Amino acid sequence: MKIHEYQARQLLSDAGIPVPKGRMVQTPDEALAAARELFTSGSTQAVVKAQVHAGGRGKAGFVKVVRSIDDVVAAARFMLGNRMHSPQTPAEGLEVKRLLVADAVDIAHEYYAAVLVDRERRTNTLIASAEGGVEIERVAEERPDAIVRVPLDPLAGLLPFQARRVAMALGFHGKAASQAATVLTRLSSLQQKLDASLVEVNPLVLTPPSSAHPDGQVIAIDAKFAFDDNALFRHPEIEALHDPAEENVAELRAQSFGLSYVALDGNIGCLVNGAGLAMSTMDIIKLHGGEPANFLDVGGSASEEAVTEAFRIILSDGRVKGVLVNIFGGIMQCDRIARAIVGAASTIGFDVPLVVRLEGTNVQEARAILEEARSRIPSMQPASDLADAAAKVVAAVGVPA
Ligand code: GDP
Ligand code: MG
Repeated sequence: MKIHEYQARQLLSDAGIPVPKGRMVQTPDEALAAARELFTSGSTQAVVKAQVHAGGRGKAGFVKVVRSIDDVVAAARFMLGNRMHSPQTPAEGLEVKRLLVADAVDIAHEYYAAVLVDRERRTNTLIASAEGGVEIERVAEERPDAIVRVPLDPLAGLLPFQARRVAMALGFHGKAASQAATVLTRLSSLQQKLDASLVEVNPLVLTPPSSAHPDGQVIAIDAKFAFDDNALFRHPEIEALHDPAEENVAELRAQSFGLSYVALDGNIGCLVNGAGLAMSTMDIIKLHGGEPANFLDVGGSASEEAVTEAFRIILSDGRVKGVLVNIFGGIMQCDRIARAIVGAASTIGFDVPLVVRLEGTNVQEARAILEEARSRIPSMQPASDLADAAAKVVAAVGVPA
């Protein structure tokens, strides 16, 4: 599960990591109120930031540093009224429903700091770099030496000497070095305490020297957290931060019917029982030159209603130009699928080619049901096996250019 930046900032702040003050808003009026509060309490600049579960907001124009109340409101209007497009968003972009209006800070340098679960090493790992702000993947590719990796003790987390060593390696001096070491240590504790798979601060910034802070101040100005779903039961306060508006709508609907559904980019909708069969169905579609539009496992015990819902979800995706049903009936009875097909044909309608391959429990009964309904579902064709099914659906849809 992911959370928004404004929520992650609160968790950082609760853990004693310095974060500029700010407020989440949902309308231009609320942005106006938040801006007034900041500017009357001494801020000279503010930052307006789209709250979406995707990065690359800065380059997309959805992080704006401004110097007046009017400009806060203008930025808020723009962000709430336009979809955000970045390399991390789907092609159609993301609607922005929440913003963060926060005090903006002056930046002397941007760093990267994260603690994550490194699955290859099977350990929590601190990753830090003096080349923050930009995409860390690019730094990792172009200048791997610029990245510090510290595998962490599974119980103790980041130890004080390791934190100091990393702060030095990043080039922090004087008081800022001890501040940075403290921030890193607290990040590591937070990651452990919250069962987070990722706590990332990019950028962690050093402010320019001032009379109050001759070595500058270390402040977190962006935060991205992801949690292990299997540990959420231990953290009801984190689970409460879940924002369903940020999930794929179709995936949420599928979840509520007990279906495993993942939207993909292709145009062949797949309805399959069993995750393994779903994977091989997607493989064989690709082998025949097609592109699956989704992964959908109806499972073994889905009701006719759930299977009908599965068709509704697949057919409501405008990109779907053909549907492949591939059922190997074990616990799932083929006749239940057949009835759902007939039901979906009358309530939703199959305007696109439908290829059906059924095998296993009650297959004779299922075939009889489909045969009887054939004249009412002209776009349907039976397939004899998986290869035949894939060839037929790809031929019906056409190979994408
Ligand atoms: P992201 O692009 O989605 O990762 O959003 P960030 O919060 O990381 O912001 C992108 C960039 O905007 C940062 O790397 C900074 O360069 C700039 N930025 C964000 N907040 C501030 C701020 O308070 N002050 C200044 N001067 N720049 C900021
Ligand atoms: Mg960032």
